[in-house]
Parts: sequence; C-alpha cells; structure tokens
Amino acid sequence: MDLKLITAEPTTEERVAVDALLGATDARSSHVGFSARELGIGRHMLLPALEAVQARVGWISEGALGYVCERLDVPPADAWGVATFYALLATTPRPRKVLHVCDDIACRVRGAKAMIEALEHETSSVKHGPEGDHVVVDRDSTAWMHSPCLGMCDMAPAALMIEAGEMPVEYSLGGVTLESLRALLRAGADSSHSLGMTDSNPPIPQQGDASLSLLKRAGVVDPSSLEAYRAAGGYKALARARALGADGVIAEVSAAKLVGRGGAAFPTARKWESVRQQGIAPRYLVCNADESEPGTFKDRLLMTHDPFAVIESMTIAGFATGCTKGFIYLRAEYPLAFERLSHAIVAAREAGLLGREFDIEIRRGAGAYICGEETAIFESIEGKRGEPRNKPPFPAQFGLFGKPTVVNNVETLVNVLPILLNGGAAYARMGTPQSTGTRLFCLSGAVAKPGVYEVPCGTTLRALFELAGGVPDRLAAVLLGGAAGNFIRADEIDLPLTMEDTRAAGVTLGSGVVMAFDDSADMHDIVRRIAAFFRDESCGQCVPCRVGTVRQEESLHRIAAGKTIGGVGRELALLEEIGAGMKDGSICGLGQTAYSAVESAVKRLGLYGAATPAPSETIDAPAPRYMS
Ligand code: SF4
Repeated sequence: MDLKLITAEPTTEERVAVDALLGATDARSSHVGFSARELGIGRHMLLPALEAVQARVGWISEGALGYVCERLDVPPADAWGVATFYALLATTPRPRKVLHVCDDIACRVRGAKAMIEALEHETSSVKHGPEGDHVVVDRDSTAWMHSPCLGMCDMAPAALMIEAGEMPVEYSLGGVTLESLRALLRAGADSSHSLGMTDSNPPIPQQGDASLSLLKRAGVVDPSSLEAYRAAGGYKALARARALGADGVIAEVSAAKLVGRGGAAFPTARKWESVRQQGIAPRYLVCNADESEPGTFKDRLLMTHDPFAVIESMTIAGFATGCTKGFIYLRAEYPLAFERLSHAIVAAREAGLLGREFDIEIRRGAGAYICGEETAIFESIEGKRGEPRNKPPFPAQFGLFGKPTVVNNVETLVNVLPILLNGGAAYARMGTPQSTGTRLFCLSGAVAKPGVYEVPCGTTLRALFELAGGVPDRLAAVLLGGAAGNFIRADEIDLPLTMEDTRAAGVTLGSGVVMAFDDSADMHDIVRRIAAFFRDESCGQCVPCRVGTVRQEESLHRIAAGKTIGGVGRELALLEEIGAGMKDGSICGLGQTAYSAVESAVKRLGLYGAATPAPSETIDAPAPRYMS
C-alpha cells in the first residue's frame, strides 16, 4: 500500500521501544506471543507497538506514531484514530510518572471525592488534552489524573501509578489517603512499599466452613509456583479432559449447565459446540479479562492468586473446541495480573503443558471499558479502535481475524476445573435447577469486610452480607451488577441471587457486583457519576448512545442544579425517553444498559420523588450540552 507517512522523526528512545517489540529490521515480533508472520498480518501489532512507546516515553509523539506506521504499513490517520481511542495512551506531552486516582463509585463512597477535591485545590496546573485533563505537580516528573474504576474496590480508595522508562513501573495501591497520595506525587514510584495495601496483598475474606470451589487456592497456594499448583490438584482437570475427549468435555460442561459469568449468561457448552463444529482453521479462544465494569474485581483476584487455573482452564477450552491459539485480553489497569499470568504461561510452556497443540498470548487493553464487549476485543486485538461490531455474524462463525472464536470470561473458564474434576452432574446439584454452581460476588462500599465471596447460586443477598460482616447499618441501597446494573432498596435484600429470581425482580446479577450504600452516601452524586461514566466510555458509533449518554448526564445535572426544563417530572420523562432510545437503538450492551441504573434510582429508590409523567409524553428538544 502507498502510504503518506509522517515526516517527523522518532527519537532514539522511541525507535528503540518499537524495535524491541517488532524486531530491529523487519516486522517479525520478538515478543513472547504470536508473530506477525504467524498471524499473517502486521496490523495486529499496532496497539502493542503504541503501548510500547507509551510505556517507554510516557506519551506518543508524531514521530513515534509515524515510525510505528512505517513499520506496520498502517496509514497514519488510521493509527491516530487508534492512539486517541484508548484513555491510557497520550498523544500530547505528559510527565513520565502519572498517578491515576480512582474517582468512581466504590472509591467515592470511601472518601475519594473529598480527597481528590483537596488534591485539585493543591495542584492548580491543569492541562487539557484530547485524552482528558491531567494535573501536573512537578513539571518534569509527575502528574495525576482522575480515573474510572480501577477494579480495586475491595481496597477503596485506590490509585494506580504508572512510570514510563526503560524499565517501566506500574503498581496498584489500595487504602490510599490524601497523605499517601501527596507522598506518591512527591516521591514517586520508590515509595510504594510503605504506602499500605497493594494488589499483591488484597484482603481475601475468610469464608468459614463454606466449601470453596473457585477460590480454594486463592491466598493459600503460591501463585508463582507450578509445583505448588500441581500439588494442590492443578492440571488434574486437564488430564481428565484428555481422558474424556473433546465431546466428553463439552458434554460435562453441558450437564453442569454452566453459563457465562461476565454478565451475558450465555450457555458455555452451546458456545463451545458451535465453534467446534466450524470446519475452519485456525480457531481462536479469547479469555475476556477486561474486567472494567465499575465495582467488579473478582477476575483480578483469580488472575493474581490462581493464575495457573486460568491457563489450565484455557488449555481445556482450547482442547474441547479445537482452538489452537488463545488470547487473554487483560485490562491495562491490572499490572500484577499481567506479571503473574505471564510467569504462569512461561512456566507452563517450560513444563510442556502449553505451546504444542495450544498456546496463549496476553494482549493488554489500554483503558477502554467498551473493550469488554466481545467483538470490541476482536477489533482491539486486530489493532483497531475498540468499536463493537454489528451481529450477526456471531463470533462463533466470524470472530477474531474473521475466524471462528470462543470468548469466555475468566470466572466462566475457571468453573470448568471443578466441573471436570467432580462431574457436570455434581456441579449442577449446587445452586438451583436454572442457576447452577457457585458464583463470585464482589462486595464493596458500605460493607464491613469488602472482598470477593464465593457462594452457591441462590444464596440471598442478606446471607452474602452476613458473610461480609453483617447487613450494613443504615443500609439505603445496593447496586447489583455494576454501572450497567440496577439499584435495589434495603427492604429487597432477601432476594435470592439467581438469574431467574433477579430477572423476575427486574434486576440483573451482571458481573457479580454488590455495592452497598448507607444513608450517608450522596446517591444523586453516585447516579451522576454513573451517567458520566457511560458518557465517557461510549465509543460513539451509534447516535442513540453517543448523544443519549450526554443528554442523560445533562438532565441529571440540571436536576441537581435546580435548573430543570419544565420541572423535575419533565426531566424524568426526558430521561425515560432517552433511555428507551438508547435501549432500542444501540448496537451493544453499553448503550442498551446506560439508562438501567438511572432508571432504577428513579423508579426503585424514588430518588427524585414520585413525579414521573407518562413515558409517552412528548418532550421538547433538550437544552445545549451541560458541559461547555
Ligand atoms: Fe459504541 Fe454505544 Fe454503540 Fe456500543 S452502543 S457500539 S458503546 S456507541
């Protein structure tokens, strides 16, 4: 292809960063995953190449972008579109050290808002850029930014430090205080060890006599040791899978009635069977580890504390479906999970457990919630903006690189281990006839002991709270299923946590979020933060979602400011109309669920009073955008 390349030159440092990934003289990849030649294309290395520059220099200059384009034969305008899509890539100069401070809902409940306001007051040099505002503390070294949920809600309030350089440093921190943030901004990365909880020592709740299935090794077995994993029963499920054969494995998963744990609840065996039946090679397996739903952190715990279980279960899924290559699409904000999974992959390869019939590569996201959508993952791995595809065709027929692809969430995959070890029928006896097995729930907010809890499906919300130290005092509301989920009232906590019971109640289990709010929480502020989240994360492809998420947030701000158009009732009717438009006219789950939490705050919590006019009422065009 004839490309009009950028004339700006890369710096030596930028060139070295790109060459270290792509090889010094040709497009062969020197990284530990699949090479460009293996996959038949170079474009798929675009995001890793941009990430390499970001990790080395802290931002992507015009020269660096041009050099990446030259190496990969990608038009610069196209690469620019990718670089500006992901929140953790910067295309304007930024200090090498950036502290990302979570201001999302779980951290807000635990004091993040006041802490951030104080920081803003102290650091006044705000830079506005296409990737968002950042506050420079020291012009030569450090900046801090607001961040959406970092998946550390069990340790809220949380932060993530990223320091670019030859040896980039990244670490997550929990339980941060204003003082510890100030110290981090002054001292930078070196002070990590004296600043409380990190991702390597999260609180892992003790569950008494509960018979754990998915969490039984977490916090007990050394996550860095393959020997320790095998001594604790690891790789017995793979041996059983080989004894059963591919059809036998799928039969066991079908007997278990396992459904996806990422939110969509699609039957896993049906998905596997569908890909297995495709007479096309290669086929791909994608482990969706882009756990970005605010309030969700269960997959983080599995990946950091039982990484070999993820690798073993992917190997079984590859065996059952005939997939020869697997990708773990991991959210960028999980540096420890990246480290431990990378180590587990290398150890499994060295032991001959990976790499022959099936191999795995990790691809890191770059800060885009929408990349948790299965087809957006394909786009992202292929080196494009993470924009969901229209369906059909479905991934089982036309997925990653146009090939049949299985996409499973981390928790879904890890469930395959107990299913094979104990049998699908035994698994199905746990829980209820329609919701089988155990589930992981992420408890955060106003609970005494936040953390990940594993309980049989059908356990009530009240019983779950009892495990976490008791039903919170002065409980006002619970958010079920995350930002894309729903609020329920304190008098609804006897709800059994099953698909059928939540569906009947008009709510969702989603990705297992259980976030509690007591009566001290500013629920209006929480709802506005959720609306801001969707406005920020909409990929913008569909008009109802792109415009609707903005209009929704504007309306909530007008209500908060007492500047409604025609009264609160009219604003609520407008919200209803916007919500219906997003639900009906959006192509992916983000737009379809962007009104869910707001709707439940209106209708279940009665947060804005009872003044809801009939949904059919015609609403005038909304006022200009709230944020100018
Ligand atoms: Fe993008 Fe929203 Fe459309 Fe999903 S619904 S594809 S996030 S614009």
